[in-house]
Amino acid sequence: MTVYDGRVVSEGIAIGKLYVHTKDRPRVERVVVADTAAELARYAEARRKAVEELKALYDKAFRELGESGAKIFAAYQVMVDDEDYIASVKSIIETESVNAEYAVSATGEHFAKMVAGMEEEYFRGRETDVRDITGRLLNILTGTGAGGVRPQEPVIVVADDLSPSEAVQMDRDAILSLVTVHGSVNSHTAILARTMGIPAVIGCPVPLAEDMNGKTAVVDGYEGKLYVEPDPELLLAKEKLLREETERKKLAEELKGRESITRDGQRIRLCANIGGLRDLEATLRNGADGVGLFRTEFLYLEAVHFPTEEEQFTIYRQVAQTLAGREVVIRTLDIGADKQIDYFGLPKEENPALGLRAIRICLTRPDVFLAQLRAILRASMFGKVSMLFPMITSVGEVKRIKKIVAEVMRELDAEGIAYDRNIELGVMIETPAAVMLADELAGEVGFFSVGTNDLTQYTLAVDRQNESLAEFYDPHHPAIMKMLRMVADAAHRHGIKVGICGELGADPSLTKDFLAMGYDELSVSPGRILPLRKIVLETDVAEYKKQQERV
Ligand code: PEP
Ligand code: MG
Repeated sequence: MTVYDGRVVSEGIAIGKLYVHTKDRPRVERVVVADTAAELARYAEARRKAVEELKALYDKAFRELGESGAKIFAAYQVMVDDEDYIASVKSIIETESVNAEYAVSATGEHFAKMVAGMEEEYFRGRETDVRDITGRLLNILTGTGAGGVRPQEPVIVVADDLSPSEAVQMDRDAILSLVTVHGSVNSHTAILARTMGIPAVIGCPVPLAEDMNGKTAVVDGYEGKLYVEPDPELLLAKEKLLREETERKKLAEELKGRESITRDGQRIRLCANIGGLRDLEATLRNGADGVGLFRTEFLYLEAVHFPTEEEQFTIYRQVAQTLAGREVVIRTLDIGADKQIDYFGLPKEENPALGLRAIRICLTRPDVFLAQLRAILRASMFGKVSMLFPMITSVGEVKRIKKIVAEVMRELDAEGIAYDRNIELGVMIETPAAVMLADELAGEVGFFSVGTNDLTQYTLAVDRQNESLAEFYDPHHPAIMKMLRMVADAAHRHGIKVGICGELGADPSLTKDFLAMGYDELSVSPGRILPLRKIVLETDVAEYKKQQERV
């Protein structure tokens, strides 16, 4: 057995035979020509044909992978007509009096090296794109085949690097996994692998020798390993993993499009907690009913400066549009405590969990708050957006927030900027004070979302970050259960919706209890949605309540 280590870009297990993919690179010679105008015309014709081919690839990818998998080919169509690239090819043809293929090859090499040398990983990943387009133009100019992978049976494809064109031209049913020696995490091949739902590992130093073809191998797209000719015990263990994974996927297929409704007809929304755009794919894949908690502080945590209104708006809009009408609850930033950001310049605190955090920062830093409120309101025109405020402890705070929101709305009106006037406002119930004031708070807002992580910490006076206190941090504590009941009852007395977005919402041992308490929504990590949906579908709430009474 030989083991090769790489980086995971798409998770999963694959077991099968190896297929070494090598590119048929067209041979390009430098030929001095007399008629440079003819070469320029050949180049123009090759560009036209390349765009035509890319349109066809876009359609194929769109049919098989959807918009996200296809959009690279729309971008390629634009890149074929990149002004700098064209200018360079033309200049080489004209100044050196050479053939079009040589000029394209030299330009492609030069541009690929240029992007490869850039500092940001994102741009380095674009090297493959430049080579892909250049290869396509050269294939057309030299009349070489397009070089797609067409193995006869399902295989693990190993290659130096795969261009998006090659990936899309492959017969999807014939590919178990992709393993490449090069490539970047952001490469479109990585994105395509994720969209196709097959494991992929990059940066794996596997030899691309002819005699590797047909060898049995295992790709562990969790650990980022390729096992060639695996030992029998390892093979058995990985086969077990693969069976479990297949079961999970089957369950997902069965449950994905189903409504979350109990046997006796009680509905509950199962939504996703997200931290940014990167979680949207999993949100959709797991059939979320919406986004119940968008922790926007991640935008701030990942930035080196305050994200501008425009930057935030672009992201919120994209989330709202992707969810296409399903609700997206955007929580205003919740930093402080365990989430510290240097550029905020917050004072050092003795006890940050009880310090300047979340809504307290927003109320003391209006510049930060206003930019975020404007961005959220503007994005509300692009889907169903709601706003959620964290760490509320009093009715006065909510009144202040509502006043600020109303001011921002007036400002947008004055500027003629559209927003959803009926946007719902909600508060997090994550402090004991908010629980005790649930009735009063319910009169002020459209929904509650219970943050059991903080509620447990503040109720039991146990730091949620302190691992040595783990045995005392008990979200199942009767005090928490009682509070959850109180909050649900208060919400329903006032006719507003109530959900749980803390980790406890994902605890399958409590799903029936949450249904019995009447919770309208559970918002959890995307991967936890479908197991919960299974429980919901199997539950008879009335029956469960009777059982509980008997106990
Ligand atoms: C919570 O406190 O339960 C919650 C959802 O918020 P966060 O974990 O982001 O503090
Ligand atoms: Mg919290």
